[in-house]
Amino acid sequence: MISPDLTNQFLAIVDPARWLDKKEQLFCYAYDAFVEESMPEAVVFPETTEEVSQILALASAHQLPVTARGAGTSVCGAPIPARHGLVICFSQMDRIIEINTKDRYIIVEPGVVNADLQAALAPDRFFFPPDPGSMNMSTIGGNIAQNAGGPRCLKYGVTLDYILGLEVALASGKVITFGSKNIKDVTGYKLAALFCGSEGTLGLVTKAILKVVPVPETVKTIMATFKDLDDTATAVTDIIGSGILPAAMELMDQLTLNAIEDKAGLGLDREAAGTLLIEVDGMAEACDKQIRLILEKLHAHHAVHIQEAGTASDRERLWTARRSAYGVFAKLAPDIISEDVTVPVSRVPEMVRRIIQIADRHKLRVGILAHAGDGNMHPMIPADKSNAEEWERVMAVFDEIFRAAADLEGTLSGEHGIGLAKAKYLPLVMDPGTIDFMKTIKQAVDPDGILNPGKFV
Ligand SMILES: Cc1cc2nc3c(=O)[nH]c(=O)nc-3n(C[C@H](O)[C@H](O)[C@H](O)COP(=O)(O)OP(=O)(O)OC[C@H]3O[C@@H](n4cnc5c(N)ncnc54)[C@H](O)[C@@H]3O)c2cc1C
Repeated sequence: MISPDLTNQFLAIVDPARWLDKKEQLFCYAYDAFVEESMPEAVVFPETTEEVSQILALASAHQLPVTARGAGTSVCGAPIPARHGLVICFSQMDRIIEINTKDRYIIVEPGVVNADLQAALAPDRFFFPPDPGSMNMSTIGGNIAQNAGGPRCLKYGVTLDYILGLEVALASGKVITFGSKNIKDVTGYKLAALFCGSEGTLGLVTKAILKVVPVPETVKTIMATFKDLDDTATAVTDIIGSGILPAAMELMDQLTLNAIEDKAGLGLDREAAGTLLIEVDGMAEACDKQIRLILEKLHAHHAVHIQEAGTASDRERLWTARRSAYGVFAKLAPDIISEDVTVPVSRVPEMVRRIIQIADRHKLRVGILAHAGDGNMHPMIPADKSNAEEWERVMAVFDEIFRAAADLEGTLSGEHGIGLAKAKYLPLVMDPGTIDFMKTIKQAVDPDGILNPGKFV
């Protein structure tokens, strides 16, 4: 409980203008892009690491639950304050402290929005590869805590691959730093890997040193449509298996395509059972060669129509289609659950088949959207949570999808994380000893369990 006396102690750390505790203000911090909610008792907006440290020390002394929040775009319930308490929102810690393209690093505060970082890097022709569909809203702190990915992570890797160093405030208020500005640094434990993806359960990121990479000379984008979804999926497996590594390879099924077309009218083929949006980048000659090889494979898998984005605006149109998928799905029903499982890429065709069979059996519509080149699938179900019987079927579908992914040697999340959505499914992909080991780490770092309690550990 945050008593009036404790509130006053917090207000001795931060200006009252950066403290919210009225019910109507708190609603906005009770949910993310998942379907559950839980109210915090107060929200605080620190501006410095020192303030974060003092807030945590005080919360620790009172065993007060603390949940970090970036932009609240998580789709798994990760920033929902499940045990109430205090939300620390990082939106005011949004400075880009240094851009050093010579040494290929940047230093940022956690509240920097991903797209703002990309815009700041663009004049130097550098970029930060992790590009979640939420890049216009989500923050670097949230991207680190979720180990976020995105379409171009097929070639470039996920957020963890770009962390050189972090400053982290621990539950006690103690601030630690690790890593360095060096592209190569294998000194000691790789602590970035411990905090990245930990969903704010081990410590709060207050500063990050990130690796950036040069913008490639050429980008080529094509979209292929297929009459058969199975052909679409097997084309993916064949292209990747033959050693071609595009920057991105996105799969969309007919339901998704039509939802996009209904809303945005981008001229997509409504009859297509499946579509692949493929992008290659690098030196111009290498891109031409890769596209030639990819076209051969697409034809071999009966692609019926292939268009190449001839101009930057064509390319933008194709990517707008892909990026709007989540938003347009939300128009189909009052609620939408977008899930996130990954299977080895050779199992993508089988996983697609299983998702469709499972949804059909439960008489539900399912849209399939996938970063297919790395096996990361996002089945999406539009439904109505207030219809208890329908919602039960939605839950049953996802239950079976998680089990199917595990059965195909896949995993529970490729990028969205575990949060509230999948905590109970961890034993499907982790043995009890591993789960115990994670609990041991949590106990050592946050002995009172004040950081984001009620989540996966
Ligand atoms: C339309 C849409 C598209 C999306 N597309 C993708 C996608 O392509 N790829 C992908 O990976 N995700 C995607 N997401 C999910 C989401 O955007 C990402 O998980 C993102 O990284 C969350 O960032 P955020 O700033 O909104 O964090 P929040 O949602 O606010 O928080 C996420 C987690 O990070 C923790 N956290 C936040 N800041 C800190 C900090 N400073 N220190 C420690 N912990 C912190 C929170 O406690 C919480 O556990 C999408 C979401 C939407 C709505």
